[in-house]
Amino acid sequence: MNNTRVVLLRHPTDRATPDHFEIQTEELGALAPGKVRVAVEYISIDAGARTMLQGEGFHRQAVLGGTVPSHGVGRVLESEDDQWSEGQAVLGRFGSQSVADMDGSKIAALDDSYGSLSMHLGILAGSTGVTAWIGMREVAKPSPGDVFVVSAAAGAVGSIVGQIAKKDGARVIGIAGGPDKCAYLTDQLRFDEAIDYKNSDVGAQLKELAPDGVNGFFDNVGGDILDAVLDNLAMRARITICGAISQYDNMSAVTGPSLYLRLAERQSRMEGFAYFHFADRIPAAMEELASWVADGSISLNETVLDGIERFPEALEVMFTGGNLGKLLVKV
Ligand code: NAP
Repeated sequence: MNNTRVVLLRHPTDRATPDHFEIQTEELGALAPGKVRVAVEYISIDAGARTMLQGEGFHRQAVLGGTVPSHGVGRVLESEDDQWSEGQAVLGRFGSQSVADMDGSKIAALDDSYGSLSMHLGILAGSTGVTAWIGMREVAKPSPGDVFVVSAAAGAVGSIVGQIAKKDGARVIGIAGGPDKCAYLTDQLRFDEAIDYKNSDVGAQLKELAPDGVNGFFDNVGGDILDAVLDNLAMRARITICGAISQYDNMSAVTGPSLYLRLAERQSRMEGFAYFHFADRIPAAMEELASWVADGSISLNETVLDGIERFPEALEVMFTGGNLGKLLVKV
């Protein structure tokens, strides 16, 4: 049996492009005792993956010449561990490859009653739905009637954040790139308003749409968009820093917000989080997200690149805004 894997050739210093990676195929030997062989079906493409390619940083790092780390879902092909049997749906850090030999203790069983296993990398995943839920419930905590803004709103985390804010009774404004994404936010996800940051002045749009100021902002982007929202805060506003994708291509020279003094002027606060800081809340997040999937009150579009050999273009797709909702590679 062959495994096709994505190897990191060199650390990107700017945009991660396909030439930073190589696709290699290797023949797998017999499965070692205690191991479980998994056929990977989907690989999650997360914005944070870019920060794993630099050689150092907050996230665990990809090794030069090694398989690029990533989360995936798949099914057990073969098992030398009594706890796992063939056909079982599983989740794990399989890496960016088609077949993964894993320790039985390093994989988790999945409920495959949702149809596609990809749901476990989207709405029900730690780095997507759970991140949105924890950021909203533990940090952002909007109140009914709040004007609530989310950036990268048509992406994976942002789509869920906005839908939770609507459930919480906020008036939701999404910021996204391009008219199609903005139409998706208002028509499909029922956000109240959307701002196309690629074709309009975000600060001017916020002044028009939120003349009394923004009460809550869930930021996935940083940079100029964060400044534009800082300039439009209501008194006692709350900014949640989930990420800053506009900065990930240049982590050695991150541009901070120049208007941070608005926090003092508007008696406001800014607080960051990573979802695993709230590990004890993950079960509650999963339970409520699953209930929303069951009652159909939440949705997440998927953008799927077909074939493991398309992994190297996936980050480029994400960093040029080519994904609507969750970005996945279907192996
Ligand atoms: P995503 O939102 O599905 O995709 C990223 C989106 O960001 C793109 O589709 C693009 O949409 C936008 N974007 C890319 N480059 C941009 C730029 N330079 N300026 C403005 N927008 C840009 O990705 P995701 O995986 O769900 O991640 C979203 C954010 O959540 C990231 O900041 C990530 O690091 C963060 N995150 C945090 C945690 C945590 O625990 N704190 C966990 C997971 C993810 P447009 O077309 O709108 O530009």
